[in-house]
Amino acid sequence: MVRENYDIVIVGFSIAGSIAAKFAVENNASVLVLEAKSDIGENTIKSYQGLQNLLTKENVLEYFKKMGINIKPQREYNCCKIYFPPNIMTEIAFKRPIGYSIVRGNKVNSIDNLLAYQAINSGADVIYKSRFINFDGRKKIIFKHNNKIKKVRAKIIIGADGVNSRVAKLSGLANEPLVKAIGFGYHFTKVTDIDSGKVEGFLGQNIAPGEYAYIVPYKNEATIVTTLRPHMMRNGMKIKDYYKNFIKLPIVQKKLKFAKKLNVVSGTVSVKPLKSIVKDNIILVGDAARLTEPLLGFGIKNAILSGKIAGKTASRIINEDKLTGKDLEKNIISYEKEIKSILFKDLKKRLKFRKVYETINDHEMGDLIQLAKELTAGIDLNKMFETRETKSIKIKALKVLKDPYKIRLFLKYFLPAIRANYSFRN
Ligand SMILES: Cc1cc2nc3c(=O)[nH]c(=O)nc-3n(C[C@H](O)[C@H](O)[C@H](O)COP(=O)(O)OP(=O)(O)OC[C@H]3O[C@@H](n4cnc5c(N)ncnc54)[C@H](O)[C@@H]3O)c2cc1C
Repeated sequence: MVRENYDIVIVGFSIAGSIAAKFAVENNASVLVLEAKSDIGENTIKSYQGLQNLLTKENVLEYFKKMGINIKPQREYNCCKIYFPPNIMTEIAFKRPIGYSIVRGNKVNSIDNLLAYQAINSGADVIYKSRFINFDGRKKIIFKHNNKIKKVRAKIIIGADGVNSRVAKLSGLANEPLVKAIGFGYHFTKVTDIDSGKVEGFLGQNIAPGEYAYIVPYKNEATIVTTLRPHMMRNGMKIKDYYKNFIKLPIVQKKLKFAKKLNVVSGTVSVKPLKSIVKDNIILVGDAARLTEPLLGFGIKNAILSGKIAGKTASRIINEDKLTGKDLEKNIISYEKEIKSILFKDLKKRLKFRKVYETINDHEMGDLIQLAKELTAGIDLNKMFETRETKSIKIKALKVLKDPYKIRLFLKYFLPAIRANYSFRN
């Protein structure tokens, strides 16, 4: 039975919303979650998504386990192939997994189901087909449920409603334009010529301007997608045209000879976090706060992390009754401070490198991949990203690179890339 008053109302029941609900309820707050769709994961892309492990100090699954979140990935990936079509390819093998594939959507084994069940089992109330419409003063929320306008009171409101967050817009927190990348592709079955342990990335202005196209395989299935920065599309081109270019590559065509489409995979990711993610009694989490990692577009990890911190902070504020004036201000801003101290330094570094990445032309890109092949041979890249051994690659590079053009490429692009990734935490 849904009540008229809750300690916390959360808008959006995907990754960030379900985690925030779980942690808030476990800390004794009453929680209502409003979800616009009619079921768990209904609106989520039904595909594999990656949990990246390469750029993290601690194994990402262990990290979540300590938070009480036991994610069972479908498989791990220890190797990636990077192509610059038509004929440059480098294959990089790692000693520990660079990532895991997890199922999104409403299948029994999806991460969406796992996290939603945890939130509901903890005692959160969830109502589907409930679209947040607006605020009515600071403590009431107007939403539409089954075509009827309803209201609910909340002491704290958590916006977990994704990259185009209405909570962020109407609270005034999303006044900055959304700096975004877009993705389009399909999840296929009956894919051939794929190696289950290897993810494949494809670069170049013809298929993925400013971004990358990718293949995430599992058995005979694969998610095959291209992503790009809209402002870098050539005149008259649409993302579907870039996708056509991508799947026309002989190496991709070969894989799709007998393939059948299962689901469309498309959407938007933000590239730049919001400046402020709290205001009055409102907290933003996950994609609503635009916390996606700016280089590769991974958002799940930060959605989980921010959801947890938001759930804990909001319930603490309720328990300590710090709900008015300066007390509220000081305590609600502690969420933003914690997120900024954990994530922002690295997000900013990556954002800086993204700007450099977007200036690489196709000619340089091919040379860079070739260079990566030469330079990474015999180096444990996991170690490189984790420790000061980043220096070793610089020393090696400057020793072996006699050609001033290669040295320029290395210093301008390759080194900032390593630096951008070097200190990625958590
Ligand atoms: C093509 C593509 C591929 C991706 N691949 C990866 C990947 O491999 N790895 C990775 O880590 N990340 C990936 N991401 C990003 C990842 O999907 C997101 O970061 C993640 O889903 C964010 O979770 P969230 O809970 O913050 O928001 P969302 O998952 O966007 O959830 C928002 C929820 O809010 C609900 N909602 C929206 N508006 C309202 C409203 N007004 N009222 C009520 N409910 C509302 C929605 O229905 C939805 O359930 C990808 C994204 C795209 C587009």
